[in-house]
Amino acid sequence: MSHIQAVRGMNDILPDDTPHWRLLEQTVSRLLASYGYGEIRLPVVEKTELFRRSIGEVTDIVEREMYSFDDRNGDSLTLRPEGTAGCVRAAVQQGLLGVPRRLWYAGPMFRYERPQKGRQRQFHQIGVESFGVASPDMDAEHLLLCARLWRALGLGDSVELQINSLGSSAARQAYRSALVSYLEARVDDLDEDSRRRLQSNPLRILDSKVPQTQALLDGAPTMADYLDEESSTDFARLCELLQAAGQAYVVNPRLVRGLDYYNKTVYEWVTTRLGAQGTVCGGGRYDALVEQLGGKPTPAVGFAMGMERLVLLMAETGAIDSADKALADVYAVAVGEAAQLASLAAIESVRDQLPELAIVQHTGGGNFKNQLKKADRSGARVALIWGEDEVRSQSVTLKFLREEAAQEGKSGQQAVPREQLESTLRAVFAD
Ligand code: ATP
Ligand code: MG
Repeated sequence: MSHIQAVRGMNDILPDDTPHWRLLEQTVSRLLASYGYGEIRLPVVEKTELFRRSIGEVTDIVEREMYSFDDRNGDSLTLRPEGTAGCVRAAVQQGLLGVPRRLWYAGPMFRYERPQKGRQRQFHQIGVESFGVASPDMDAEHLLLCARLWRALGLGDSVELQINSLGSSAARQAYRSALVSYLEARVDDLDEDSRRRLQSNPLRILDSKVPQTQALLDGAPTMADYLDEESSTDFARLCELLQAAGQAYVVNPRLVRGLDYYNKTVYEWVTTRLGAQGTVCGGGRYDALVEQLGGKPTPAVGFAMGMERLVLLMAETGAIDSADKALADVYAVAVGEAAQLASLAAIESVRDQLPELAIVQHTGGGNFKNQLKKADRSGARVALIWGEDEVRSQSVTLKFLREEAAQEGKSGQQAVPREQLESTLRAVFAD
């Protein structure tokens, strides 16, 4: 019979990779807790209407990337393509918005895209949202928090911050008209995709990757010339705050975002090390969304980072120590029935006394050579060996499996009396 394959673009994350994911998750959750953010866990499925109303009808996501289906009741539901909409829905529904609120979440998102490196159909985001603060000090907090995270992950030199302001909705309207007239006059030189967007979502043309279109845009009006006074003051203040904190950034006047709900500040953290999928994190302000989804007017700002891209980048920059991949610190080998009994009893006691040690006990029998090969493959630093001799002398043989340990002057192998096993292991793993 043929094998059933996973759905295209929906990947398994294997035990060799999960340590990278855990490192990322742990670093993020610790950091966000230290800034006073509370974790919220949200459903993976929401009503389709939620995304239509928030992300926007004429965006790539809503037009052609959503996994939507009718449930048995005939209601249209959608696997969430992003987290902000659900987070706002929950914050309104659960009455979380009376006071300034800092929230974060993590989990899988779903978009029907063309799978490639750093782009899947099921991917994972960590999202951060702050509600109830209109001033750019909150935007700055988010950016500095991200920068701190990149440093903690060893990515400080690999990502660049690009920022822009989209202005108020009225300013954006005015800019949009100016851009459309400019491009309409040059429509023959526009690529097909951009021509289509000219009517539906002209701002998205700004981040077209087609060289001819980019050249055309060099002469186009820029958003900065149309900014309303408040947006422009806030943007200047944000730049000032970033400078005061020593945070480098680049103003990219063509930076727009793929979702309709943004206003004022938008930003992306970009790397050149992942090919075309270079944006590892994106976000900005969305002051109108809460009201648009039925809540009281509440200013808001947030961002989401792509976990797959961050993990790729962590692997690329060598931020991950190969030792983290080891499944075990200790691998217990036992040959013979009496040896197995002695080994099991000893390991139970070691687990009681040294619960932080990862111990893999050999199962399934086999000779010494066979079991030691497994011990080596486990990545463990130490093998504990029980055979007839050890049973007779009530001891255990401790063998260092990694070269560095042997070089440090620790002999490759030593006999340890049973009653000294725990203290010996404690000393070995203390350094
Ligand atoms: P892109 O321009 O790369 O399509 P986007 O603007 O659609 O990204 P956002 O909706 O802002 O992305 O999502 C925030 C982050 O989530 C992105 O910066 C990226 O790191 C990640 N991301 C988005 N879509 C995918 C995907 N299909 N596969 C993997 N990661 C993704
Ligand atoms: Mg996209």
